[in-house]
Amino acid sequence: MAKIGLEIHCQLTKLESKLFCSCKANYRGLEPNTNICPICVGLPGSLPRLNKSGVEKATLISLALNCIIPPKISFYRKNYFYPDLPKNYQITQFDAYGHTSMGKNGKITVDGKEIKIRRIQLEEDPGRLIYEGSSEKTQITLVDYNRAGTPLVEIVTEPDFENPKQVRVFLNILVDLLENLGVSDPTLEGAVRADGNVSIEGGNKVEIKNVSSFHDLEKAVHFEITRQQSLIDRGIPVELETRQWDEHRKITVSARSKEEEQDYRYFLEGDIPWVILNPQHIQNLKNKMPESISSKRDRYVAQYNIPEQVADILSSDKFYSDLFEQAHNKINAKEIANIITTDLMGFVDTNEKRQKLKLNSQHLNDLANAIMTNKITRNSAKIALQEIVNTGKSLSVVISELDLSHVFDESALFVIIDQVIKEHESAVNEVKEKPETINFLVGKVMQKTKGKADPTLTLELLKKKLVS
Ligand SMILES: [Zn+2]
Repeated sequence: MAKIGLEIHCQLTKLESKLFCSCKANYRGLEPNTNICPICVGLPGSLPRLNKSGVEKATLISLALNCIIPPKISFYRKNYFYPDLPKNYQITQFDAYGHTSMGKNGKITVDGKEIKIRRIQLEEDPGRLIYEGSSEKTQITLVDYNRAGTPLVEIVTEPDFENPKQVRVFLNILVDLLENLGVSDPTLEGAVRADGNVSIEGGNKVEIKNVSSFHDLEKAVHFEITRQQSLIDRGIPVELETRQWDEHRKITVSARSKEEEQDYRYFLEGDIPWVILNPQHIQNLKNKMPESISSKRDRYVAQYNIPEQVADILSSDKFYSDLFEQAHNKINAKEIANIITTDLMGFVDTNEKRQKLKLNSQHLNDLANAIMTNKITRNSAKIALQEIVNTGKSLSVVISELDLSHVFDESALFVIIDQVIKEHESAVNEVKEKPETINFLVGKVMQKTKGKADPTLTLELLKKKLVS
């Protein structure tokens, strides 16, 4: 059986400044090497100053993952030489000599399975290497230190996963949780990155690094399980090593023998004193924590009678659950949840579209009320919604501009239905033998009414006419 563990690096993108200096935490889109200072490029004589909000955000993550938070924490230097690491050491945390990192021994339940969190540590991100052309063939490597020193939380799990699917489900839940906590925006490129380690009985642990997406990590883990199993079956030992995912060939390739912890020569970062985590302060943070996704979901079901599946989708997406919270009242909550999950999420399905979205909570409120008072049909509401998303016009303007107000009542619909029956005689004759043909006729009625008829009512009336 496979044992899979994960190391997830989450940038605290909601912070203003880097972890140990006042350069911007948001390094994206800046000219290379402009977001730097003596501290984050490690010039001699510079001293780190710890970002208090960074400690608070890491505390929130530790609390949300049910970790034990120690009364005081310290920082360590992890020594290694690499061009993206200007100080030649990374300031991070380490569990040794009775010192611990931000959080340890946490747990989270995923699909009914408990995944244990070994530790959560606060650390700095290195800079970025930029290769001209592909990394294998390039002659030139450039280094940009804008990212160096940005705040990162590393989440290390126990090897509790048994298959790649569990890994994917866990990562999706974790990303939702981080977004809901307001610590990170996972839609930003590189904001949440995951490495895995895989071992199967009789073999050594193999680390998989540099995987660009969760989707690829799932594939890489799957590949590793197969590769290691086949080695063991043939009596070939599985080496302890780090492998990289080659996304073109869809295989992992050997990168280097894996460093052991002693190779990093960890020692205490003497430039940062002990940080005392006051229990009262932790309690205050806990009290101010945003409502968890599972509690939101249960509340939506219990208070508003929203179907579980809809509540699930809505609560796990912070962007839409925030919109829902602003828009709904007790009476229209269920209708608004319905509009968001069935139509709006489809119209606005990328981060780019979310940023351009012209719709606000008032629009949703108006739309739900118009549907509930039969001012417009569900179908017309969908047309109106699309228009509002693009233009931000008020619902009343959209209704009059697109002439959506005319609702076909039963008698008006019967007139149209009679016309359609006349025009499509052969389809009408087919209905007895092929009942699904009736959907074709519903479509014709919708066409004639420019989508303003209620399709459910149309179907009902058509059946009345044709089947009886
Ligand atoms: Zn700096």
